[in-house]
Amino acid sequence: MQVLAVASEIYPLVKTGGLADVAGALPLALERHGVGTTTLIPGYKQVMARVHASGTARSVFAWGDFYGGSAEIIQAEVAGLKLFVLNAPHLFERDGGIYGNGAVDWGDNWRRFAALSRAGADIAGGLLSDYRPDLVHVHDWQAALTLAYMRYGAAVATPSVITIHNLAFQGQYDAGIFAELGLPDDAMSIHGVEYYGGVGYLKAGLQSAWAITTVSPSYAQEIRTPEFGMGLDGLLNDRSASLVGIVNGIDIDQWNPQTDPHLPAHYSADVLDDRQSNRHHVEERFGLDRDDSLLLCLVSRLTWQKGIDVLVDCLDDIVGMGAKVALLGNGDARFEGEIHAAAGRHPGRIGVVTGYDEALSHQLTAGADAILVPSRFEPCGLTQLHGLRYGCVPIVTRTGGLADTIIDANEAALTAKVATGFQFEPLARQPFLNAIRRALNVHREPDNWRQMQVQAMKSDVSWDHSAECYIDVYRSLLRGTHL
Ligand code: ADP
Repeated sequence: MQVLAVASEIYPLVKTGGLADVAGALPLALERHGVGTTTLIPGYKQVMARVHASGTARSVFAWGDFYGGSAEIIQAEVAGLKLFVLNAPHLFERDGGIYGNGAVDWGDNWRRFAALSRAGADIAGGLLSDYRPDLVHVHDWQAALTLAYMRYGAAVATPSVITIHNLAFQGQYDAGIFAELGLPDDAMSIHGVEYYGGVGYLKAGLQSAWAITTVSPSYAQEIRTPEFGMGLDGLLNDRSASLVGIVNGIDIDQWNPQTDPHLPAHYSADVLDDRQSNRHHVEERFGLDRDDSLLLCLVSRLTWQKGIDVLVDCLDDIVGMGAKVALLGNGDARFEGEIHAAAGRHPGRIGVVTGYDEALSHQLTAGADAILVPSRFEPCGLTQLHGLRYGCVPIVTRTGGLADTIIDANEAALTAKVATGFQFEPLARQPFLNAIRRALNVHREPDNWRQMQVQAMKSDVSWDHSAECYIDVYRSLLRGTHL
């Protein structure tokens, strides 16, 4: 089976969040099960550099004018990933972020991702002489229009899957852009791309996909409610028979405490004492007191979705309860300022690094006792999976993928020795502090804490099972059954 994936980011070439991790890891996991994937991605500057450096790049198609400039499709293999790269300098080769410059999105994102999608649909429809996929799998709004182009074009009979990584990002534009998309007039309807009077990219993908997946079973349920559905709950309810939740895995080779090149000290569940050097490294790097108190960490975008406002409200109390906190994140300037201010109030007890630092995220997870994930909503979440893998006990809100991947340390679970973390709900100051209080209580009894760490490390966070679930979806579509 040959799958064409379309995504706007892919680890290790370009990443702003969990989408890149999934786009990079899933093809490798599928490959191990005999399913080949080639992923179409935009030719951003950093991508083109990697593609040229790989020595594998060859141009397989060229347009004289593609959405306002010349463009080509380059085939390449980078980091074990088979790629088609849409090299369109007028759309993708620019300084700044991949979606915008600081807080402001690029004004032509609608065109950039329409172009990516169009290229995907054309490849699915037979643009290239020696490649035609059996199935197309697109990720999030940036690639969603692929399915509209397929539906109204040559690839209407090719099975398709769309995965929602975060319903909060939908790609909504003014109706005025429709004329430039190159879709037939009848696509501008409620059954096509029309969305609240404008054009909705994600909406169009959800409407056109043969199957819809999202990244955890709980989130698959939640997004059918007005509270989490962000305006799409009606559509998702209509399509509920085609909607499935498949939890993400993580790359257990990159995230392996026995071999991780980022770590000062390697360890395993059998030799947890060896974690201590990693803890000291974190204490030093974040300017924290060296003592045995509960060391909490955060690795996160600093946004409202991630519950950072509530965390900020709790920081003084967390220190008052005797814990200390190491925070790594970037995002809203307001939150960055507030956590720096908290660190200023509590020297030695709260340490902050603002920015994006892959190596430090590994070191924190390997050195802290517990990782905080107080998300308001969380489609799947990856940092709690990293925490499980590294014996850094997750403290999470009971929502979405966090609810599905962590076993709460209630009395029964503690007695049965199956607990892997602490869950709380709703997201508010007192429930959050209660969960931290529960963690402090278990942490005071080193044998019990160690038992939880070991249990966390036993959790299966690999891609294996999830890859099988995706293959089940693919197979049922190839048999001709819409889910
Ligand atoms: P989201 O995609 O909503 O941001 P996820 O938990 O699904 O959240 O994925 C976030 C990914 O980005 C994880 O791999 C996490 O380790 C990483 N990450 C987030 N913030 C940082 C940061 N400041 N430095 C390094 N890695 C980060």
